Amino acid sequence: MSMKVLVTEKKHVHEDSIELLRKGGLEVDFSEPDLSKVKLEDYDVLFVRTYTRVDKKVLDRAKNLKAVIRAGVGLDNIDVEECKKRNIRVYHSPGSNANAVASHTIALIFAVLRRIAKADKHVREGKWNREEFLSHELDEKVIGIVGFGAIGRLVVKKLSGFDVEFLAYDPYLTREQIEDAEEARGRVKKLEDLHELIRKSDIITIHVPLMPETRYLIGEKEFKIMKSHTILINTSRGGVVDEKALIDCLKKDKLYGAGLDVFEEEPPKNQELLNLHNIVLTPHTAAMTEQAHRNMSVQAVEGFLKDFKV
Ligand code: NAD
Repeated sequence: MSMKVLVTEKKHVHEDSIELLRKGGLEVDFSEPDLSKVKLEDYDVLFVRTYTRVDKKVLDRAKNLKAVIRAGVGLDNIDVEECKKRNIRVYHSPGSNANAVASHTIALIFAVLRRIAKADKHVREGKWNREEFLSHELDEKVIGIVGFGAIGRLVVKKLSGFDVEFLAYDPYLTREQIEDAEEARGRVKKLEDLHELIRKSDIITIHVPLMPETRYLIGEKEFKIMKSHTILINTSRGGVVDEKALIDCLKKDKLYGAGLDVFEEEPPKNQELLNLHNIVLTPHTAAMTEQAHRNMSVQAVEGFLKDFKV
């Protein structure tokens, strides 16, 4: 009997990956991300994207599950430890969308720095008060990279044409792994202390996974020590930045601005956040390029098919 896969976010996985599963001899069904009404014991494999929670309760019901495929990088919607205990393999696609997210991060840096969203609205409203848009250039800024993985290092590589200084904080990498990385081009300085990076940076960009240890990594204490003109960019996960503390700072103009692709609640409903003038928001679209969309789904499925030759 062929293995059965349940795809829970059809709109967000690439059709080529579904094709690969079918060619691999698997039977494919579809559902919504809410699995409460699904007969999970019928499935050998769950193929999920971002909004399906594969937690203990789901695993308890999915009695025949052998693998979880996650089209994407972060595994915060999957209880990986619990999967391990139950001998359920987890596949994802590390690095598959790094190029897209790094580019989006840079787009957000410039959007905030040059007040692009505000300027766009200004022109559409028939205004032409150019003096309101005196802004800053990226050159001579210190850029702090928090998390020097696939995305963090590509941000450095792509921004290397600018006359900027890079600092990096990543306690899981050695000085050599950071400073001698090909993407670093001898221009990145590793710091052992996050607070030192925060104090010294003009632009701070976050690229860490969401885990208990990184929840509110950037919180009240961290905002207090930022320079008054700091730009904070978060394209990682909402829970890494304490949104309430960020809003407080932005309301009081204690920061230059922020660019957010991810939120504690998605979509964000907090009017205080949505009303801020010094913030640029995108709807978790950093990885949404045609190329990354395909890579994320196909790479994860290929990993699965390598192990489970049906
Ligand atoms: P990666 O695994 O290559 O890099 C993550 C880095 O963070 C690693 O080098 C790790 O050592 C470091 N790290 C872990 N804990 C840390 C801590 N406490 N302090 C500092 N560094 C720490 O992952 P990546 O591909 O660079 O992606 C980073 C994150 O971006 C993902 O985990 C995911 O949550 C997020 N992401 C978001 C989108 C989006 O659409 N906005 C898309 C892809 C990834």
